[in-house]
Amino acid sequence: MKTAPDNPLPQPARRGFLKGAAAVATTLVAPGIFLYRTGQAATSLNRQARWGLLIDTNTLSEADVDACVSACRREHGWQVEQDSETDAQWVRKVKLTDQGSGHQKFLPMMCQHCENPPCVDVCPTGASFKRADGIVLVDKHTCIGCRYCMMACPYKARSFIHEALKDQLPVAPRGKGTVESCTLCVHRIDRDGANAVPACAEAVNQGGRQAILFGDLNDPQSEISLRLQALGGTRLRADMGLNPGVRYQGL
Ligand code: SF4
Ligand code: SF4
Repeated sequence: MKTAPDNPLPQPARRGFLKGAAAVATTLVAPGIFLYRTGQAATSLNRQARWGLLIDTNTLSEADVDACVSACRREHGWQVEQDSETDAQWVRKVKLTDQGSGHQKFLPMMCQHCENPPCVDVCPTGASFKRADGIVLVDKHTCIGCRYCMMACPYKARSFIHEALKDQLPVAPRGKGTVESCTLCVHRIDRDGANAVPACAEAVNQGGRQAILFGDLNDPQSEISLRLQALGGTRLRADMGLNPGVRYQGL
C-alpha cells in the first residue's frame, strides 16, 4: 500500500526550512517574554533583495570604462554600427577633471536604479516601472515614447530609439519610438540571482579584480554590503533623495 511521504517538501526546500528553523534563537528578556532572533538562513527566506552595483573609480582606467560600454552594447545590441550620436545608449563614459590638479577619472554612468525613481512617477502609462528587487525597467509594449521619463531622470540615463533596429538580440527586445535604459542585465540576474555578473562588470573584473561589484544591498552579509560598510560609497546627487542602487567609490 502506498503511504503519503513523511516529507512533502522537496529535499532542498526542506533542508533550507530546517536550516532556517535551526537558526532561530530565543533569549529570555523577562519572565514569560522571549526575544526571538533569526539567523541568516531564516532571514533569507523572507528578505527581498535589492540589487545594486558598486563601482570603484580608483581602479577604472579610461580603457576599462570603454570596455564597459562596449560590453553593454554587445550584450544588448544597441548602437550596432556606432554610427550616430543620436542612437540609444545605455551606459556612457563620464570624465571628471579635478580643477586644481587636473587629475582625471573616468566612470560608467548608467541607470542608477533609484529607490524613488522620478522616471516612474512621471510615466503616464505605467510603462516605466520598478520591480520588487529594485530594478527599474521600461515595458516597450506600453511605452508611448512621450519621453517624460527622459526629462525627469537627473542622470540622463534614458534614451529614445530614433534609429531603425536590426540584429536584435533575444535577451534585449527593443522597439523603435520607445525609451530604454540599463536593465542591470536583468536577464542574467533572473538566471543567476546573487551570482549574476552584469556584462559591464564581466568586462572589467578580469584576473580576480572587482572594479564593478554586483550584489544585494539588502543583505548585510553580501560582498557589496560588506565593502560599503568597510569603505563607504557615494550616491550620485544624494541630495535629491532618490537613493540610487548604483554606488561609486573613489569620488
Ligand atoms: Fe529612472 Fe533615471 Fe533613476 Fe534610472 S537613473 S531609475 S532612469 S530616474
Ligand atoms: Fe549595461 Fe548590464 Fe552594465 Fe547596465 S548592468 S550598464 S545593462 S552591462
